[in-house]
Amino acid sequence: MIANYGYEDGSGFYYITIDSDRCATCESHDCATACPRDVYVIEIDDYDDVVASVASDARKRLRELCAVCKAQNGGGIEGRLLPCTSACPTGAIRHSW
Ligand code: SF4
Ligand code: SF4
Repeated sequence: MIANYGYEDGSGFYYITIDSDRCATCESHDCATACPRDVYVIEIDDYDDVVASVASDARKRLRELCAVCKAQNGGGIEGRLLPCTSACPTGAIRHSW
């Protein structure tokens, strides 16, 4: 399943997309430990798979929370340059901005 977490406001749109089918094959769950702002949580979904999602208290704050990583890593939209996308072994995470 493709899950989108985030929001839009007057300055743009800020979404993290996670392909939970890929998470179901993941053994490391390194996204959660790689993120310095605790954006990701690891949980069991409706199919009893262990998957990543975006913490509920982070979903409306992504622009703010990710600002330091984005500034240090050139944005990371297409490349796997952010701590979270670099740590993910399956390429399950995409950022929209
Ligand atoms: S590291 Fe990637 S595949 Fe593994 S749980 Fe995190 S987002 Fe999913
Ligand atoms: S860009 Fe940085 S703060 Fe944002 S989710 Fe990825 S690792 Fe966490």
